Amino acid sequence: MNKNDAFKQEVREWLSKNCPPSLCEKGASRGAGLSTRYLKGDSRLWLERMGEKGWTAPMWPKEYGGGGLSFAENLIFRKEIKRINAPQALSGMGLSMIGPTLLELGTEEQKQRHIPKIVTGEVNWCQGYSEPNAGSDLANVQTKAEDKGDHYLINGSKIWTSGAMNADWMFCLVRTDNSVQKQKGISFVLFPMTDPGVTRKPIKLISGNSLFCQVFFDNVIAEKRDLVGKVNDGWTVGKRLLQFERSSIGSSRIGIGSAVKSGLVDLAKKYRANEAGEIEDPLLRAQIVRHEMNSLAFMDTTQRIAEEAKAGKGLGFATSVMKYYASEMTKKKSELMVSILGPNGLGREGDEFSKEELAISERWLSDKAFTIAGGSSEVQLNIIAKRILQLPEAQGNK
Ligand SMILES: Cc1cc2nc3c(=O)[nH]c(=O)nc-3n(C[C@H](O)[C@H](O)[C@H](O)COP(=O)(O)OP(=O)(O)OC[C@H]3O[C@@H](n4cnc5c(N)ncnc54)[C@H](O)[C@@H]3O)c2cc1C
Repeated sequence: MNKNDAFKQEVREWLSKNCPPSLCEKGASRGAGLSTRYLKGDSRLWLERMGEKGWTAPMWPKEYGGGGLSFAENLIFRKEIKRINAPQALSGMGLSMIGPTLLELGTEEQKQRHIPKIVTGEVNWCQGYSEPNAGSDLANVQTKAEDKGDHYLINGSKIWTSGAMNADWMFCLVRTDNSVQKQKGISFVLFPMTDPGVTRKPIKLISGNSLFCQVFFDNVIAEKRDLVGKVNDGWTVGKRLLQFERSSIGSSRIGIGSAVKSGLVDLAKKYRANEAGEIEDPLLRAQIVRHEMNSLAFMDTTQRIAEEAKAGKGLGFATSVMKYYASEMTKKKSELMVSILGPNGLGREGDEFSKEELAISERWLSDKAFTIAGGSSEVQLNIIAKRILQLPEAQGNK
């Protein structure tokens, strides 16, 4: 038996002993979302077992609690997880954003202290970037951090902070120098959300959910050892983290997927088929085929980007391509689903709408958000134009 086959067998055996079968059934709840705080029963057990093994972060180094798997082993591992339909045991900003950033740019002490708790899901993180006047123009952050010797004293506020209600720690862009070009006076700090100076106010969304908060800081303390990178060089750290965020949004492919597997064809047949069960409308047929082709092209592109990254070029500006395309396609797919349902796709509540119809209309509203989160589509197009296509900048946009 070669090395890969032996590893496959090891994974298979471990999964059969450790993955609770209830989680693999069709329709079972999938993953922990932004916070592990309310995980119970088999989902908690699954997280504990995967965290202990380091397989919530399969490719992170073993010395920080990760799985230490190679690229090839990780592919085998993912295939085995998919084969039994096991859910992701852990997701969130620890795994997808601050973890990879600390592994690349953090101090040894920061890695030792923070990474193991990300792997086990013990600590949930939130992202303190946007402010009322610093969204696309992120370098305009005004939340102030004053140097007080062994710590920074933080005052100001952040907005659209996803998962802040249940977060234990925040990674945050703060202003440490006002006298220089705005990008050169920013630092990147970490602090616990349990600090008494932190106030979280939930923001209600059009979809009815409340996924994020405005967060206020009144003399909040960030220890000096929790400065990531150098003082006033937080822009470099913050931008690198955004690449991890965009790659994560892009590679999750959000709601993309084959028209057949993702239920698009079944939905069209259910609502728009003739008596023979055929979808007659040529426009709808063309839209479904276009979705299928775009989805396949996108999957090939992400595969190519991953292989280039593996070949040593690392994940760079191509993450903007992934983020832009995944979020725009997801939005278009939701729009197509609502148009298939017709007036039934516009329900918010009430017995005249089925559960499926209400879920589709909610998704249609919430999917729009991914074209804004992590940097809007227009901002991604700017990055692609400038950094990948090397196009000249528009007058007045320097
Ligand atoms: C679901 C969701 C989750 C989020 N989670 C977080 C989070 O956890 N933490 C966090 O810090 N932030 C978060 N955000 C905020 C997000 O990063 C910002 O909303 C985003 O960067 C846009 O900023 P803004 O809302 O201030 O819009 P603005 O920057 O005011 O933009 C308004 C419009 O102008 C366009 N625009 C702006 N500048 C340009 C330009 N130069 N060229 C072309 N068009 C431009 C934008 O594309 C947009 O359409 C989240 C947002 C969403 C929707």
